Amino acid sequence: MLDIRTYDFTGKKALIRVDFNVPLDENFNVTDDTRIRAAVPTIKLVLEKGGAAILMSHMGRPKGQRLDKYSLRHIVPTVSKILGVEVKFAEDCVGTVAEQAAAQLKPGEVLLLENLRFHNEETKGDENFAAQLAKLGDVYINDAFGTAHRAHASTAVVAKFFKDKMFGLLMLKEIESLNRVLKDTRRPFTAIIAGAKISTKITVIESLLEKVDNLIIGGAMTFTFIKARGGKVGNSLVEDDMLQVAKQVEQKAKEKNVNIYLPVDSVNATEFKDTDQKQITPIDNIPDGWMGLDIGPKSIELFSNVIKQSATILWNGPVGVFEFDNFAEGTRKVGEAVAQATEKGAFSLVGGGDTVAAVNKFGLADKMSYISTGGGALLEYIEGKELPGIKAILDE
Ligand code: AMP
Repeated sequence: MLDIRTYDFTGKKALIRVDFNVPLDENFNVTDDTRIRAAVPTIKLVLEKGGAAILMSHMGRPKGQRLDKYSLRHIVPTVSKILGVEVKFAEDCVGTVAEQAAAQLKPGEVLLLENLRFHNEETKGDENFAAQLAKLGDVYINDAFGTAHRAHASTAVVAKFFKDKMFGLLMLKEIESLNRVLKDTRRPFTAIIAGAKISTKITVIESLLEKVDNLIIGGAMTFTFIKARGGKVGNSLVEDDMLQVAKQVEQKAKEKNVNIYLPVDSVNATEFKDTDQKQITPIDNIPDGWMGLDIGPKSIELFSNVIKQSATILWNGPVGVFEFDNFAEGTRKVGEAVAQATEKGAFSLVGGGDTVAAVNKFGLADKMSYISTGGGALLEYIEGKELPGIKAILDE
């Protein structure tokens, strides 16, 4: 496999799949440029080594339509500023416009192509479309971990048209960090899996039961476990069709000698809103008319103790409705415990859009060992699935 760090880009045009799926405000200003910054090291490396960079990405879900609000033209000034290079723009990602712009590109220059998803062929993984994209560059780099679980034209199919293909620096770092958690694991290994629904995380929970020493469950999915145990959860979010699954998870944990930690107390409200009208009850005795929106102080203590004794930590999912200041304490304290463990030498990997937003909100981002840019891709990697975007680079 080729290594971007040793590859000679002199005179080459690198077609780079980046993830510039960034949020814009109503005036089309980028409101969070994290993903653009994350792609910078790869782009700069190509330029420094004598190459030119052709960047391709999706933004939003335009579903094959040319919708101005999803045009990547809006982000050209931001990308130019962050890179310190004036970025050129092609009004389409394939066809004459793109081919001419790519042909004119000189070493040291950067071209951004229009949104890949203005063509339905992108998400369908269409071969012809991928071949048209491939015409634009001499070498292919995939640096978009966030879409690596998709077998789209630009993330996977395009690779087969290149002899020279490689991972970008961000992808390399993502894979290396995940391997530190999943393969070269230092123990005890604790996973914190929380968030809204057990149904979206069940496969990841099942595969983690094969690997972890401790599994901390939080967020709304707690209540499915508590109800399955026979507890009273009031109006809390429950997935009734997952009760049996929750029981099976607990059973399997026992068989595998995995310690499962559920919250023991709950901070409740009568409505799903940011209110200071709240009460704390045992997690399995929430009165009718009330719903659990955060973990209580005893749970914070329980979770923090486990986290602080861990050598490897994986965190996905907020343990409460952290978006509401009145119900953010649990997630903040869990984040602080992860930060403290990291300071003492643990390796911590945090991933998923909401969890990363929480860590940023609490100013803890630089206290984590690694913050993944992946959501779905991260979960599928943990599940042990082969990601098409990774496989396409590894395939000869
Ligand atoms: P997920 O996308 O599955 O990781 O879920 C994240 C969302 O779960 C966040 O927006 C949280 O506000 C929400 N969440 C966490 N705890 C609860 C809870 N107890 N009740 C309702 N929503 C919750």
